[in-house]
Amino acid sequence: MNLQTEISSNKRADGAGGRLLDKVAVITGAASGIGKEIALSFAREGAKVVIADLDQTAAEKAAFEIDPMGKRALGVGMDVSSEEQVESGMAKAIEVFGRLDILVSNAGVQIVAPIVEFEFAKWRKLLSIHLDGAFLTTRAALRQMYSQNSGCIIYMGSVHSKEASPLKAPYVTAKHGLVGLAKVVAKEGAAHGVRANVICPGFVLTPLVEKQIPEQARELGISEADVIKTMMLKETVDGEFTTVQDVAEAALFLAAFPSNALTGQSMVVSHGWFMQ
Ligand code: NAD
Repeated sequence: MNLQTEISSNKRADGAGGRLLDKVAVITGAASGIGKEIALSFAREGAKVVIADLDQTAAEKAAFEIDPMGKRALGVGMDVSSEEQVESGMAKAIEVFGRLDILVSNAGVQIVAPIVEFEFAKWRKLLSIHLDGAFLTTRAALRQMYSQNSGCIIYMGSVHSKEASPLKAPYVTAKHGLVGLAKVVAKEGAAHGVRANVICPGFVLTPLVEKQIPEQARELGISEADVIKTMMLKETVDGEFTTVQDVAEAALFLAAFPSNALTGQSMVVSHGWFMQ
């Protein structure tokens, strides 16, 4: 069964499907990597998905792959660090699909350098994408979710929401910050039927990480193989990368969870790296 058939029939080859039937999900940074896989897996489960990304062409292409008719998938150009673009992009999503059930705040970048050499502009750029982006999309989503008295927000944290690594000061700071934001949204949102949680993946081979490996090797004067072995996979139980499918499965679990029992939490998906 191909993706189109699966989506249109809301059935998967394994008999699952329909766990998010007619839910509307906005996923930021969904033109690539983890976000794209989450959009595909939500669509397979019957959701209508909005792919919001800085790269509008890639967002529209990803939406077309899911539904060429444009009835169940929409690509939107959105810089999550821009208040104006978030407001207009979220308004468009709600206007097209009529409601909003799930926000996955996922857009992110990585910039590596030792703290003493970190340019202030780059520090601010990273924080504005990860933290301003999470705040702005959350605020716009909550207005709609409160009016529906239901909703689910998922933040894409990282093992770096729990642990530190050298060269990643703003990234580690931002990812820890998302845990705090999720807890506040869980407390404020409960009275309005809104849950909020964080997924904390280990290393996943996406463009974000593929770019980072040679940069870290250069900064540390070690080989790329050693970056992977000693910095990325050393703490895992089996030396394996996490996959986009692993993270999408966690997102699906959180999105489809039926009650307020699971809110304000961080779910680490990392092959055992960082055991809580
Ligand atoms: P990716 O580079 O494949 O995808 C990131 C997407 O975000 C891209 O499509 C990019 O265009 C978009 N984006 C960047 N800046 C944006 C902005 N200002 N506004 C809107 N969209 C923007 O990376 P990925 O690995 O899939 O990362 C997705 C998220 O997962 C990030 O928040 C990242 O920190 C997090 N994460 C990744 C890993 C990993 O190992 N890859 C591990 C843990 C957490």
